[in-house]
Amino acid sequence: MNRRRFTSLAAAAALSVALPTSLAGPALAGPEFPSPEGRTSTASLMTYDSMIAELARLERTSRYGLDVFTLAEAGTAHSTSEQGRDLYVATIGSGPENVWLQGRIHGNEPYGGESLMALLKELSSNGSATYRTLREKYTFHVIPMYNPDGSELNIRHTVLQDGSEERIDLNRDWMDGKFVAAESEAFYEYWTRVDPAFGIDIHHQGLKREHGTDDAVTLSLGISLAPGGPTLPTLADGAYDVLTRQMQVHVYDELSRYGYVNIDRYQVSGSYEIDIHGGVTSAMMLGLNHNGLNPEGHSNPMVFFETSGNSSDGSLGQKARGRSIQQNVRALEALLTGMATGAVQQEDPERWEEIPHAPTTAYLTDSGIVPKP
Ligand SMILES: [Zn+2]
Repeated sequence: MNRRRFTSLAAAAALSVALPTSLAGPALAGPEFPSPEGRTSTASLMTYDSMIAELARLERTSRYGLDVFTLAEAGTAHSTSEQGRDLYVATIGSGPENVWLQGRIHGNEPYGGESLMALLKELSSNGSATYRTLREKYTFHVIPMYNPDGSELNIRHTVLQDGSEERIDLNRDWMDGKFVAAESEAFYEYWTRVDPAFGIDIHHQGLKREHGTDDAVTLSLGISLAPGGPTLPTLADGAYDVLTRQMQVHVYDELSRYGYVNIDRYQVSGSYEIDIHGGVTSAMMLGLNHNGLNPEGHSNPMVFFETSGNSSDGSLGQKARGRSIQQNVRALEALLTGMATGAVQQEDPERWEEIPHAPTTAYLTDSGIVPKP
């Protein structure tokens, strides 16, 4: 990859002023986090410019060779967002296996970005045995802000600039006959170069309560092709159906020691597992060959994290920022370390059933609801 220092960009970013805005949230009582009580301040959220400045600073101060570059510098055919923003990647580590970490594909789901920046800081400066192992075993490809346009607009989507102003959900766009948005083309091509061993995608959901207890959920663990569902058991001779469950069991166990974290399984409409093929994480597991860029049919397992609350509903909460980010960082550390040491691969995949969830009644697929047999 081309190396480039971002001194001028960093200086420009430092001059930009984040305009404070706030979003009113509905009145709900409760000390749990996130809580929409009061007002959700978006002034503290990472902006595109502040991300660039922070990446430049981390690259400058890194002890372990953090490399920051744009997809234009990487030379992908499409390399900017719909509105023309550069798309940023940071790599670190010297290991033989590549790991894909992405955040903020939905622009109104901010803390994936913040969490990955916090992880990058550790990867680039932490001399502990744990982080040394991670850098030796893996090369990380970190995308803190997959959707910069939506992030700046505080919306889920990107907006097509072909005159239609159509809003596109970038997490439904990696599909045969789709790839409507420039971001999808750009990151897909980059993915075909990286051929990651596995990856993690960080999102937010609405405020959620645990099935059966009504306790506030702070983090949901998800797989976009349901384990045991119509699709996943057919991929990689069933290996992803096993490994993605093991990944979630491991994170669930490791984070249960933190009293401020309450984890469940990601579900929609109460009791549905998702089985969508057009999500980025799904397309990676399916080994999608778009434009002939993946002729060997590379595929890799992926899981996602869903932090509760988002910035456009005003439900991030006023005081939950630190804990929301910290739980993501702990979850990332747990999963990455567990994969590196082999602890994840030793987990009992059947224990995925122990992670709190509603009894599954159906699968939400691209073509509608499919009842569970
Ligand atoms: Zn999302």
